[in-house]
Amino acid sequence: MAVQAAVSVENVSLSYFTPERETLALSNISFDINNGEFIAIVGSSGCGKSTLLSLMSGLIKPSQGSISVGGRAVDAPSPRVGYMFQKDTLLEWRTVLENVLIGAELLGLDMKAAKIRAKDLLTRYGLGEFLHAFPAQLSGGMRQRAALARTLCPNPDLLLLDEPFSALDYQIRLALSEEIAAILRAENKTVILVTHDIGEAISMATRVVVMSRRPGRIKSEHHISFPSFGATRPTPLDARKCPEFAGYFQTIWDELDLHQI
Ligand code: ADP
Ligand code: MG
Repeated sequence: MAVQAAVSVENVSLSYFTPERETLALSNISFDINNGEFIAIVGSSGCGKSTLLSLMSGLIKPSQGSISVGGRAVDAPSPRVGYMFQKDTLLEWRTVLENVLIGAELLGLDMKAAKIRAKDLLTRYGLGEFLHAFPAQLSGGMRQRAALARTLCPNPDLLLLDEPFSALDYQIRLALSEEIAAILRAENKTVILVTHDIGEAISMATRVVVMSRRPGRIKSEHHISFPSFGATRPTPLDARKCPEFAGYFQTIWDELDLHQI
């Protein structure tokens, strides 16, 4: 069966309302994502990246415009969409295995099959020894791998990753992005990675969407390729060593206009 995860975002705007004010977080956003594509969305803090993922997951509804996943309008959270939040949100009182099974429990999936898949994912991600450990016993990188296993356990077609590495030290972040890129490539998912880290976006995604400051708009899109590496796609660490990397970095850096901070 073909993976049906193509995403279409059409003229989407979103305002948040509080008693004091209305905040226009996103204004007139449109873009399409093909099945199996890995895109990164970059933009400075507060430009509406998390809001955009929440809209695509169906947790909140657009004030204007529409979003569809796999040809169907998004109107509520769906098991076809896996959403990994900015904070890992592991439940401290549940074991690692129990945390990974939360999605299957909430969705009412076959728990026996889910348990087999959860154990397999955790073992493949180097957490086989920690199935019955509690999150507090894990390092930051291990927690993120457990959170990824939890997101992948119900086998979604589309993965939404909100700054999955932002809480980690630089070296751990590089190593983990290498691992996660390999995992996602093997799983052949459609992935949307939100990040404020330009290097992470360029090294992991095949297309980078740049957002402007609030209200978030799409400023530009860049197709990323590394012809100097040859026909195969480089891993994130290899991509950073390619001569094309610096050119993409400079272009996107200039567009983000970070020196005004
Ligand atoms: P990013 O993830 O890019 O940092 P967010 O999507 O979290 O940005 O936020 C975009 C804007 O919307 C910010 O100005 C933020 O303060 C505002 N915002 C986010 N969530 C809410 C909310 N629940 N209520 C009111 N304003 C919000
Ligand atoms: Mg955010």
